[in-house]
Amino acid sequence: MRVYFKTYGCQMNENDTLYMMGLLEGKGYRIVDDPMDADVAIVNTCAVRKKAEEKFYGKLGELLKIKKEKGLLIGVGGCLAEKDRGKILEKGADFVFGTKSYPVVDELIERALKGERFLYFDDHLDDVIWNFPRKVSGHHMWVTIIYGCDRFCSYCIVPYTRGRERSRPMDDVLKEVKMLAEKGIREITFLGQNVDAYGKDLKDGTSLARLLEEASKVEGIERLWFLTSYPSDVTDELIEVVAKNPKVAKTFHLPIQAGSDRILEKMRRRYTRQEYLELVEKIRSKVEDVSITTDIIVGFPGETEEDFMETVSLVKEVQFERVNIAMYSPREGTLAWKLYDDDVSKEEKVRRFQYLLELQKGINRKLNERYRGKTVRIIVEARAKSGLMYGRDIRNKIIAFEGDDEMVGRYADIKVTKVTAGPLYGRLVWIEEPERVR
Ligand code: SF4
Repeated sequence: MRVYFKTYGCQMNENDTLYMMGLLEGKGYRIVDDPMDADVAIVNTCAVRKKAEEKFYGKLGELLKIKKEKGLLIGVGGCLAEKDRGKILEKGADFVFGTKSYPVVDELIERALKGERFLYFDDHLDDVIWNFPRKVSGHHMWVTIIYGCDRFCSYCIVPYTRGRERSRPMDDVLKEVKMLAEKGIREITFLGQNVDAYGKDLKDGTSLARLLEEASKVEGIERLWFLTSYPSDVTDELIEVVAKNPKVAKTFHLPIQAGSDRILEKMRRRYTRQEYLELVEKIRSKVEDVSITTDIIVGFPGETEEDFMETVSLVKEVQFERVNIAMYSPREGTLAWKLYDDDVSKEEKVRRFQYLLELQKGINRKLNERYRGKTVRIIVEARAKSGLMYGRDIRNKIIAFEGDDEMVGRYADIKVTKVTAGPLYGRLVWIEEPERVR
């Protein structure tokens, strides 16, 4: 039996797909890249933005055509499956399953193969323990440590689709880290919608900071990352670990979303502009040469030119290493959708988006200049579309260079020769011996 996967959205979804792939491969399924070659298609969807939703419905149309031509069983999971449920089944999918149901995707396929068409939203997250089968490849893996989110930002659908915060026990996560290290994984990113909340619900002293410390002691693990932080949940203990532990990446992704207190309040973010700036200051004073990145939404309901200029001034003041910019789109069921009109025009949203993009490009170019002529240690990640190899340094800066596929997973020193607003380019000056990498 051959199965095709299509995944939309965040790393959490990508990771859930790897679990499903591992589970199905263990049951004898073969993963294929083309739905034309498949017997089953599983789509893992995203509901965070309207665009992802539209892309999914386009894809579903393509898959339904294949189904009609040659037969194809279609299963749809993820956040949009939670939101649209019966609508997706009505359009022609064979089964629709929830964000907590993917650990039993094999059983769902079996049911559908018997001709049943159904919705399934039972919670099986407790099945996902350290030795749950999963696809492991390369040198880097994601490990989900906390599910859901309790923050209920007014624009966000995630607390409704992924539920309340629920942490995995630290022992179990550490067993998974050891298992992955034994399989040759050197870099791990701990994932959570609000990763800083990790452990709070366990009430046994578990925290992200403690997990990072313990995971860094696992033999074979070279670098640890974590995503995504909620600014007011970042603790002093966490900053301390990032500052002192050489295996923990020197970067914080701290979504600010808006620079105006009025908009932050309407977004129900639980910090002010001033508190955010103080946090950035505190991190910079403790973590040497730290990289700080962020997310911003432009065109939130009621955002005036004055509000937007406060976001602009914040971006200028902080000098982020990267800014992910999104245009607001109302998500049915959220508080912002209920309370506010989407009153900033599409043209204005595009203008604000472009304005910030240009501003950030200039900042990136300037910040990247610091790398010119320097020799930087990276872990080689993959071959880029350009044909060059690339990797990232401990500050998450991407550097491309001429190299071979055999270098993936190894440390390399690259002398930076060319600087752009995006990646850096350089020349290989040293590569770790392959026998040091298991
Ligand atoms: S912190 Fe806010 S934006 Fe992030 S997942 Fe939770 S509700 Fe959504």
